[in-house]
Amino acid sequence: MSTFRAVVIEKNHTGQTVALTDFSEADRMEGDVELRVTHTTVNYKDGLAITGKAPVVRRFPMIPGVDCAGVVETSSHPDFQPGDRVILNGWGTGETHLGAFAEKSRVKGDWLVPLPADLTPSEAMAIGTAGYTAMLSILALEKHGLQPADGPVIITGAAGGVGSIAITLLAKAGWHVIASTGRAEEADYLEGLGAAEIIDRNELSSPGRPLGKERWIAGVDSVGSHTLANVLSMTRYGGAVTACGLAQGMDLPGSVAPFILRGVSLLGIDSVMCPKPRRLEAWARLATDLDRERLGRITSTIRLEDVIAAGTDILAGKVRGRLVVEIEQE
Ligand code: NDP
Repeated sequence: MSTFRAVVIEKNHTGQTVALTDFSEADRMEGDVELRVTHTTVNYKDGLAITGKAPVVRRFPMIPGVDCAGVVETSSHPDFQPGDRVILNGWGTGETHLGAFAEKSRVKGDWLVPLPADLTPSEAMAIGTAGYTAMLSILALEKHGLQPADGPVIITGAAGGVGSIAITLLAKAGWHVIASTGRAEEADYLEGLGAAEIIDRNELSSPGRPLGKERWIAGVDSVGSHTLANVLSMTRYGGAVTACGLAQGMDLPGSVAPFILRGVSLLGIDSVMCPKPRRLEAWARLATDLDRERLGRITSTIRLEDVIAAGTDILAGKVRGRLVVEIEQE
């Protein structure tokens, strides 16, 4: 029986177990493309899956991991041939379909994006869903018509994955970036990425007023709860805030005042089911806009053996920037 190494989550009457183990090729799920996974990454959602702290996993056994870069080994999909380098973000991998923390993966070709020519597989996973979501957020702000000359942008969860890449991209585009973080010790890191101002996240994390002093024209929020409510309440007239995450909480305890009195917009960002044309646009922009030297600065590389511990660390807020899991050397 052929097997490959994978992180596998099982569930029984006593709860969830997770281990790096051998997985049978015969037990892979349906798909028209077989991949050799060369790199993957650990996102916040993967931490939720590994620890079982939120019901991310919908079938057991599950191989977690929502992002991968790999090489096509076999394909009956018209767009992909053996040897093609591809990336995959979301579409339920690691949730409903066996995911990326594995040496092999069988997936639907419709989910795959060709690896942009200018990116290495390791860089693509340093970006991962976090960076691709940061770019989806920026595209949404641009579509809203906002530009650097309009005023400052606030980024919450600044030292995390989405936050770090959003700072890098927006600072390079000329925005005055205000970074909100709970890690004062990361000030040098955040300024190195391009943050012009750093604020303590405690300023935003408690119940606030319906409207506050207007401080920024745009926001990229990955935190939710009171933080997002306060960001909205301090957004200038006509501004917009993107919401992609729930690091503080799933709730949104605010008021409609920013919407009805200041014409502020709340723009929802979903990376998982995002249609392919938007994905291709986001990846093309990441390949051209993202400073590789800064990307390198926010990235740490780990091995498949380290993924389970990294899943716990990311939920504890101990991971700075992005983690690349190198399964095969470039
Ligand atoms: P990270 O863990 O890398 O970053 C999250 C950051 O949020 C932390 O680094 C920390 O930043 C801040 N944070 C953590 N806990 C709290 C808290 N209790 N209160 C306030 N701030 C807190 O995760 P990612 O960047 O990968 O993801 C961020 C969020 O976005 C997650 O909720 C994730 O599920 C979501 N997400 C959603 C996507 C979508 O498709 N909608 C796609 C990708 C991510 P600091 O230390 O600087 O304060």
